[in-house]
Amino acid sequence: MRTAVVTGASRGIGAAIAEGFADVGYNVVINYNQSPAPAFSLADRLSASGAAVLLCKADVSVQAEVEAMLSAAAEKFGGADILVNNAGIAEQALFSDISEAMWDRMFDVNIKSMFLCTKAFLPFMLSRKYGRIINISSMWGICGASMEVHYSASKAAVTGFTKALAKETGPSGVTVNCIAPGLVATDMNKDIDESTLNGLITQTPLNRIGTPEDIANLALFLASEKSGFITGQIISADGGFL
Ligand code: NAP
Repeated sequence: MRTAVVTGASRGIGAAIAEGFADVGYNVVINYNQSPAPAFSLADRLSASGAAVLLCKADVSVQAEVEAMLSAAAEKFGGADILVNNAGIAEQALFSDISEAMWDRMFDVNIKSMFLCTKAFLPFMLSRKYGRIINISSMWGICGASMEVHYSASKAAVTGFTKALAKETGPSGVTVNCIAPGLVATDMNKDIDESTLNGLITQTPLNRIGTPEDIANLALFLASEKSGFITGQIISADGGFL
């Protein structure tokens, strides 16, 4: 039985990915930080349908908390075969209003977390000569978003992280890929006003925004054995926006 760790799985895209893994029979580590209620309710629902789940509270930008999650996953499931680095934050601000603290927080949560979680779980994969690491970036990390320089820069960093790590771990059977979603209907976008939203939909050839399941379906494929000849790739799931 394979084990998948999904960071930021209390809500949105991460919750859909965790649910997708549970549906196909993986053991799932559901990580959350500040939203215990939806995380507990997801874990209860998946457990009730027969899945083996472990709920882990951890701020994935903090090494000690990631290490505690690693210990819990090792004890319950003997490690992990799949890591989805999904946890992330976004924020809109003019470049001139971005403070050093805002910049550091963005990079801590969106990219340092990938470093810490990958450091923690990669050794299991290397020793098994099998593993899948899936990093969630954003289309804004590819093309840049106005008023989101710190977010766009942190997501662009995910690209370099993915491509470089894939070269190192490929010979050990561990693939590393990145999903670059377009606009997806989650809490992250709940404050976007209607005219901006409609403008973005108009620019999207598939004429809609994405669902968390659109992203989860791709993550499930990348996590499967069927994706075994794909590594170091940045794969867009954005309705054709870019
Ligand atoms: P969301 O609905 O706001 O959910 C964010 C998730 O990340 C929550 O589960 C949250 O957990 C978790 N999280 C945030 N900071 C964390 C931390 N320090 N430690 C652990 N977990 C943390 O966002 P989403 O739309 O699902 O986004 C998921 C990923 O997709 C992010 O990396 C985001 O940048 C990326 N993305 C989203 C979109 C979009 O349009 N929605 C587009 C492109 C890329 P708690 O609430 O428990 O703290």
